[in-house]
Amino acid sequence: MEKCKIAKLCGGCQLQGQSYEQQVKDKQEYLQKLWPNQRLQPFLAMEDPYHYRHKVYAAFAMDKKKQTYSGIFQANSHKVIAKDCCDIEEMQLQQIVQTITKMMKKYRMMPYDEDKETGFLRYVYLRKGYVSQEVMVVLVVSSFVFPAKNAFIDELLEKHPCISTIVLNLNRRHTSIVLGEKEKVIYGSGHIQDTLCGCHFQISSRSFYQVNPRQTEVLYQKAIEMANLTGKETVLDTYCGIGTIGLIASKQAKEVIGVELNQEAIKDAIRNAKINHRKNIRFIAKDASVYMQEAAEHQVTFDVVFMDPPRTGSTVEFLSSLVKMAPKRVVYISCGPDTQVRDVKYLLKHGYVIQKIQGVDMFPFTRHVECVAVLSLENTIQ
Ligand code: SAH
Repeated sequence: MEKCKIAKLCGGCQLQGQSYEQQVKDKQEYLQKLWPNQRLQPFLAMEDPYHYRHKVYAAFAMDKKKQTYSGIFQANSHKVIAKDCCDIEEMQLQQIVQTITKMMKKYRMMPYDEDKETGFLRYVYLRKGYVSQEVMVVLVVSSFVFPAKNAFIDELLEKHPCISTIVLNLNRRHTSIVLGEKEKVIYGSGHIQDTLCGCHFQISSRSFYQVNPRQTEVLYQKAIEMANLTGKETVLDTYCGIGTIGLIASKQAKEVIGVELNQEAIKDAIRNAKINHRKNIRFIAKDASVYMQEAAEHQVTFDVVFMDPPRTGSTVEFLSSLVKMAPKRVVYISCGPDTQVRDVKYLLKHGYVIQKIQGVDMFPFTRHVECVAVLSLENTIQ
């Protein structure tokens, strides 16, 4: 890959300039250092590690000649660095950002200035389905007042018919968090659909959805295969997002419960169960640690527990309750292998043994590593 000119300022691709083979080797070595006594599964790399990001953000600013440009915020600064192309973002999404940037002047969409708190368009946030190819455009704005809205929508759709929904998201907060709380759908349903591992998913703007759908299928297939489901198991999918893992696993399980903190994601998950005609799954909107404590107290048991926490990992409350519930298998999917080691060590002290550890490359050209660890209760190994 040719070296990106703004790599340092952007900070997104820390492994710029390294061959992909080297990156994969280094990531596996990193995991091996975290697990010195384990024989790791061969690392699952991408065949084509470019343009995998199906979720793209852009910020806007005006240059000295009063021309609007799009780009990214320089780390720890309010300065927008111009970005014309990116090797890891999906191509069509990048083109849509360019189109919107060019259209802004005509439709009086002033770029938002964080220091002065003036202007209208703060970010554009885009998501694209992998199989469906549907695109969601979220315009993050400082006000819902957008007089040229209809003409803007018409022209944007004419230029990019792949766009299936457009959402206005209000964000006036003094923060680097892209999305605000309030939204108005101005075109389409406010969702996109996508298909992963043969299941259909409806995704709304504020629910978590993996950024690399090609590799997500690889990750999910591996994780579910490692759970050894036979159709008879009761399964718990914690930190379930829009229900992806639980829904795919429900085809090979007796019953599944999904738990997730984000209410929007749970709404998507419930809808997704209906879309896929799955009657053996239900979803609960709750902090996963609270759910685990309550379930352990009421002697609820599961055969298999999936856990896929954020980078910070899980909690002692979660893990101690998990140990009390004593599922035969725990499949721990992590985007933070260091916190995963910490959590898995807790389980190893409390009766579990490691079956397999599998690295998957979800984020080529970045230092992020995804890792699946499968554990079994020591006394249940056949
Ligand atoms: N398994 C899903 C989501 C993984 S990302 C997928 O593969 O798509 C982690 C998820 O954990 C996010 O959806 C986030 O909203 C959720 N989350 C974060 N903290 C949580 C908590 N304390 N309890 C439950 N869910 C939480």
